[in-house]
Amino acid sequence: MFILFGTRGLKHEVKESPVLSNSCPNCKEGNLVNKLYRRWFTLFFIPVIPLDVVDRFYECDNCKSAYNESIKTVLQQSQQEITENQKNAQRAYAKALIAAMTHMAIIDGDFAVEEEREIMDALQGFPDIKDELTEIHQKVKEQGNIDNQVFNYLNEARNQLSSESLINILAQAAVVLLADGAIEKEEENLMKEYLIACGLPKEMYHTLIDKLKQKDMTNIKKEQMN
Ligand SMILES: [Zn+2]
Repeated sequence: MFILFGTRGLKHEVKESPVLSNSCPNCKEGNLVNKLYRRWFTLFFIPVIPLDVVDRFYECDNCKSAYNESIKTVLQQSQQEITENQKNAQRAYAKALIAAMTHMAIIDGDFAVEEEREIMDALQGFPDIKDELTEIHQKVKEQGNIDNQVFNYLNEARNQLSSESLINILAQAAVVLLADGAIEKEEENLMKEYLIACGLPKEMYHTLIDKLKQKDMTNIKKEQMN
């Protein structure tokens, strides 16, 4: 299923903050200006929930690329360190994604074919670490959240990733929740626990599910018309 979600917000320049001159890693000549950003959770580009998060980030005044505050540290790092950090973040993302999707698939005691298919699709996106992810998938499938393993992966992701990436993980888990057509109470409760674990409001559950369902209905109608 194709879904569009993310966050966006209004930008304000931080007047007192120093500008990082000519240091944009993208265009190599722009100045990085510190800005404030109040986030909204969006679905299909529509802001639906104001998040209690205000981010500071740097925006290039030339090419408009945006970087989070850690760009200051990144500018002091070698290319090798940067690549290493990006790889680690991607691994943390993939591990939390597969663990949460699998956990969501088994929580109602029935591992449906549609659920398995969504997880296999997600696994294909990470060919470099497919073996490691398959192992996590198997372990969670057999043992569930034993030793809190699923939430440990989510915590690891929360330490390394932006709220956009975390919402991405949860929306993919919500796709699994919806995949077999019925929402069990265990699935709803688990999704709320995930939201809390990611530092997001649990009220976001209803918005997330409603929007994904609406999108699903639109797709079905379109398929029927074709
Ligand atoms: Zn630039």
